[in-house]
Amino acid sequence: NRSIKLVSRPQGMPTYENFELVTNSLPTINEGELLIRTIYLSVDPYMRGRMNGVKTYVDPFQLNEVLIGGVVGEVVESKNNDFKTGEIVEGRLGWSDFSVSNGSNIRKIDPTLAPISTSLGVVGMPGLTAYFGLLDIGKAKEGETVVISGAAGAVGMVAGQIAKIKGCRVIGIAGSEEKVNYLSNQLGFDQTINYKTENVLDALKAACPSGVDIYFDNVGGEISDAVIKLINYKARIIVCGQISQYNNEQIETGPRIQGQLIQRSALMQGFIVSDYADRFGEGYRQLGKWVKEGRLQYRENVVDGLENAPDAFIGLFRGDNIGKQLVRVSEE
Ligand code: NDP
Repeated sequence: NRSIKLVSRPQGMPTYENFELVTNSLPTINEGELLIRTIYLSVDPYMRGRMNGVKTYVDPFQLNEVLIGGVVGEVVESKNNDFKTGEIVEGRLGWSDFSVSNGSNIRKIDPTLAPISTSLGVVGMPGLTAYFGLLDIGKAKEGETVVISGAAGAVGMVAGQIAKIKGCRVIGIAGSEEKVNYLSNQLGFDQTINYKTENVLDALKAACPSGVDIYFDNVGGEISDAVIKLINYKARIIVCGQISQYNNEQIETGPRIQGQLIQRSALMQGFIVSDYADRFGEGYRQLGKWVKEGRLQYRENVVDGLENAPDAFIGLFRGDNIGKQLVRVSEE
């Protein structure tokens, strides 16, 4: 049973030396437990924060322990009456070929509804994040102008499409021509901005002649500084992620934006998707329905091999992925 451990804490951008692939014997299960074969694992930006060794809203990863993340896999042995061999489950499990669970940290996935990989993406945690952020905090309404940063990623891509479903005008900001072309041509975003080649503020002014009603922020930093300059009266700023800051050793201070919030009577709210845990059922149902109806498209960037999980994780900060970044650990 191979696993990936965190062996040192990243300073700035994570490197391969922070991770180690180890091999141990297959775990045995006790009464009440089950053994899960990992099929896909999810690499997520929030894991970077857990690598720092500082408690935030979750405990930090311990050094020399197996990393924990989103996993979908198959039950291969069960001594738990609620789970049968052959069932597909999703939950927070180890970055390993096999994991043991007592059933409390996993949910069952129906593989006939959608490909099981979507339980880690569009109909999983990132999809829920987009759904509750945009609708509960953003309160997106028809005709409003919505700007999304990190728009070609797992969360951003779903947020932009939900905004389109709600009848909004959607502007997506992402870091390559391939990404912005995909958003415009495939997902129907109204305008896109490549922040690596364009002046974001100038491009936003041209794309949002009547200002910004909702800003779904996945990245923070200078991109957000530019968007916030253009917010309208009663604008909503959904602070979902700040990936541009996650590798910073020191917290940046940027332009002071509170004046903008006062002048525009705007709302800026952060959140963690688990704030909505009691409404996950609603989110899964609605996202699944939109996917089934073809109104919500998804894309996955799949890398093969557990040994390549660290590189896939580091790739999030290079912008390697279009859509949800996954690692295929074994065959479905
Ligand atoms: P993504 O699939 O969006 O992957 C990360 C993307 O971020 C990259 O592809 C890259 O795209 C972009 N990026 C990386 N570095 C920078 C940078 N310096 N400046 C601007 N963009 C950058 O990840 P997720 O969809 O999983 O997550 C998106 C955000 O949402 C993250 O900030 C994450 O932490 C947050 N999040 C928050 C949750 C919550 O509960 N609040 C839950 C889940 C996610 P590009 O090529 O465009 O640069």
